[in-house]
Amino acid sequence: MFKKLHIQLTAICTLCTAVIVIIITISCLYIFEKGMKDKEYGLFLTATNSFHSYIQGEDLITAKWYHESRSNGRYIIFIEDNGVPLSFVTMTISPAEMKLATQAGHIAKERYGLDISSEKTAKVIEKQVHFSFYDTNNQEYYAALSYLPKENGFMSMTSVYSLKPFRQSLLYQRLIYMGLVFLAIICLGIFSYVFTGYVLHPIEGNRSKQVQFIASASHELRSPLTVIRASLAAMKKADKTKAERFEEIIQSELQRMGRLVDDMLSLSRADVESWTLQYEKTDLSELIFSIYERFLPIAKKKEIQLDYLISADLKLRCYCDKQRIEQILTILLDNAVSYTPNNGKILLSAEKKMRKCHIKVIDNGIGISAKDKEHIFERFYRADAAHKSKEHFGLGLAIAKEIAGLHKGMLTMQNTPDGGSTFILILPILNE
Ligand code: ADP
Repeated sequence: MFKKLHIQLTAICTLCTAVIVIIITISCLYIFEKGMKDKEYGLFLTATNSFHSYIQGEDLITAKWYHESRSNGRYIIFIEDNGVPLSFVTMTISPAEMKLATQAGHIAKERYGLDISSEKTAKVIEKQVHFSFYDTNNQEYYAALSYLPKENGFMSMTSVYSLKPFRQSLLYQRLIYMGLVFLAIICLGIFSYVFTGYVLHPIEGNRSKQVQFIASASHELRSPLTVIRASLAAMKKADKTKAERFEEIIQSELQRMGRLVDDMLSLSRADVESWTLQYEKTDLSELIFSIYERFLPIAKKKEIQLDYLISADLKLRCYCDKQRIEQILTILLDNAVSYTPNNGKILLSAEKKMRKCHIKVIDNGIGISAKDKEHIFERFYRADAAHKSKEHFGLGLAIAKEIAGLHKGMLTMQNTPDGGSTFILILPILNE
């Protein structure tokens, strides 16, 4: 599913960015080409004006000037003296060039009414027209036709300039741009693939965690259900005293299920950030002591020595949800009692470090292996030793960590130096 989504997102991202790149490139190319075309036309006009001035100013048009002006054939120049082509012009100009000069002459006559070979035009003082046209092969040319009255008659000049080399350079330029755009699209595609993959990674992780969560939850709910179903079936056949025993079993399994459902609800509320905290000024020393007192009989029952170490004059006031902090400490102490064997020791302590309160639950119990340490805060994670216990679902530390986070605090774990586990809850306290 995520692979398909990854590919779809990559395609959409690449397509959108590619369309933007193409539009920008085409716009830039259009402006750039327009500027180049204007420049080309300007160059053509400058050249034809210089031909025009030369023919007007000189009495004798030399073959040397003519050949130099043709710029290796880039300009087709056709000059007539009183309607008669100059001899070196006739010798140089090819039939194809002659055809183009004639076509330009026809266009000038039709469009602008200028017939530079006609005597009638002699009455006109001086005239020049320039325009662009296409030949029969659809090749574009610029043309300029000049009529120049002289003392002894008139001279006329037709200059035609082919845009073929210019068009070729434009085409070459377009191909380079296309190549660059293609390269850019490939790079964008690769970038989109990596980027969308990077964005999807945590979503994919969350989804698989959710799937795992549902699978584990279903698994945990199935065992009490099985027990309840079996107990109900047995109850029907059992006599009164045995039926009461089955009823007790059902009650305890229902309680277990209720606790599990409560824990799961807490976590799902944390996920959707709908956990409402009732913040109030709380004396942490007092709170810790009340929990210590609550756990004393439980520890005693298991012959565990539970100690309390907080200096009497230490002020530990915190702006927090009292019940939630109580919940964290209950989880930690409940675990400490569960995972510490008889005759073990548990110490509940608190100290102030900078503007934080460090509450420690130190036990000398079975401890947590390095491998398990990485996972104990994950949902439904239980180390092998805890699997047998029916009272533990592996959700306690996950809930505790969520609550600590909501209070801008932290919950960490380290080994107790002489064996066992030490859980440290760090909470910000009020500066008093
Ligand atoms: P559980 O309900 O199973 O105790 P927790 O999330 O509270 O779930 O704890 C996760 C696991 O971390 C436990 O199953 C246990 O393996 C380990 N653990 C937690 N606290 C202790 C402790 N004080 N000593 C040893 N192992 C612990």
